Amino acid sequence: MSNLEQLGRSLQEARKWVRLSQTTVGQRLGVTRQVVSAYESGKRDISAIELYTLCNLFRLTPNELLGVLVSAEPEGAVSLNFRMNNDYKLLTDHDRREIDAMVGRTRDAEATFLQWQSAFEKYNRIARSSFQIIRLLTEKVRSDFEQNEPPINIYLIIDGLGVSLVPTAFDKVAAVVGRAESSLQRAPWIAVNSSQPSFRQRFSIAHELAHLLLHEEELVLHAHYFKKQFEKKEIDADSFASELLLPRELLKASIESVAAQTIEEAVLLLSHLYQVSFAAMAYRLYALEMITRSKYEELGKIKPTKLAEAIGRKVPTRPFDANALLTPLVQQQLKLTSNPRAFTQDVVRKIQEMAYTRYLGSETRGGADLQTVYDLESAGTVYEKVALWVADNYPLFASIPQNA
Ligand SMILES: [Zn+2]
Repeated sequence: MSNLEQLGRSLQEARKWVRLSQTTVGQRLGVTRQVVSAYESGKRDISAIELYTLCNLFRLTPNELLGVLVSAEPEGAVSLNFRMNNDYKLLTDHDRREIDAMVGRTRDAEATFLQWQSAFEKYNRIARSSFQIIRLLTEKVRSDFEQNEPPINIYLIIDGLGVSLVPTAFDKVAAVVGRAESSLQRAPWIAVNSSQPSFRQRFSIAHELAHLLLHEEELVLHAHYFKKQFEKKEIDADSFASELLLPRELLKASIESVAAQTIEEAVLLLSHLYQVSFAAMAYRLYALEMITRSKYEELGKIKPTKLAEAIGRKVPTRPFDANALLTPLVQQQLKLTSNPRAFTQDVVRKIQEMAYTRYLGSETRGGADLQTVYDLESAGTVYEKVALWVADNYPLFASIPQNA
């Protein structure tokens, strides 16, 4: 590999780590996305000024940037501490690095271990009974966390169980669930790919929770890719997620209350109310025999955003306000100094994850401020806004002229 190619790979890895798109980076450099792509593949030489601009965006010194590639190699932390299902070998280098870093960050979660252990014993007793396990288990979880109306606050449930939730940045993985070997007293964690739409993430989290409650004994580290899985455990985990987020009794009552003109409109309004995808709602209604198979197939051809516009149900976006949310977060919560060097890549990632979780409303603990995911900006947009806010407010190289 040539030096230019090495630099390109480092640039790409550093960019992904702060979760900026090639388009956004291009805007900052005053070049097109294609030019950024050419830099990353080592097909084009980069100027020193551009390099400094990138270092500021990526929160690295030029020296560190050149070293990114070396540290991007898997360090073996995952293989030392965790076993994983066969899909592990399909992980990209970036995804391995994400998992390694995340496992490192959840290491101090021992305090939540006892919380998790007692919750697990309670729910596992239900999981071991043989009749209608999934329905009983989801009903128990919902009633314990007082989730009696839509949307079911999965974030509150996860937090209450003592499970760590990390909204991370995988390439090819939808979600990963893991726990330490039982000799290490540490609560389990769920990492969800936050580039997915928010309503999709809710379902992924519920699916991973099912593995923790139903299959814990066989589980150490388990990755899910963006593909349909047909093993029994996977089907069970999907049923659990549906039963938890879309409980049949609640759903029956909601159908009356949404007062829709057509079935299409009802499915749309219900998907907003329960904060799941249109497709997931359609499937659930079909599975509960509330709609026919042919209706379900018809619904599969509908574009929910077009339908929402056509019937005047398009939800206005509540923009993520970086200044309003990040200034107090950085000063009060993280107690960071104003020294730009304090804002490393890892700190940026931490700010991104905290900001996104707050924006989702998880810290309202299901209170009056719980926002609906349908009126939020995408996770990708939020992460980018955070990275750019840090670059603009804490420039690493104040004397370097800005291109843009
Ligand atoms: Zn699964």
